[in-house]
Amino acid sequence: MKLSQHFTLAELTRSSVAKARGIDNTPPPELLPRLMRTAEMLERIRATVGCPVIVTSGYRCPELNKAVGSRSTSDHTQGHAADIVAPGFGTPAEVARLLAPLVSVLGIGQLILEQVGGKSWVHVSTYEPERAINRIITVTDAGTVPGIVSAA
Ligand SMILES: [Zn+2]
Repeated sequence: MKLSQHFTLAELTRSSVAKARGIDNTPPPELLPRLMRTAEMLERIRATVGCPVIVTSGYRCPELNKAVGSRSTSDHTQGHAADIVAPGFGTPAEVARLLAPLVSVLGIGQLILEQVGGKSWVHVSTYEPERAINRIITVTDAGTVPGIVSAA
């Protein structure tokens, strides 16, 4: 099922952890409109980076979200969020730096550069956090800081 021109429901629900553990990560039908909104945000990001955007984690049912060690209030469980990389454009840090000044234009509610456990990706959500300072942040093993901060 297509959610938008370039993104399918399969892409936004695929999970190796779910597969390995036999978790059914099918979203409830009422979340489909949100997933479409998320896909539309990804289309705008795709157009901005000028190359394919790969979703490494999209919707996560509560069981899967727990299995990957994410907090229960995660935007992933609500269908708002996607973790992405765009190697055709550059590193996650480069993607995050490009998107940071454009969040309002692109309808990105929250932008997070995540550099955790030797891995790196960009988290984008249509949902805007209550506190403006949390809208654009960098998360590393050392903690969370405002803005996109990366040596890479
Ligand atoms: Zn995420």
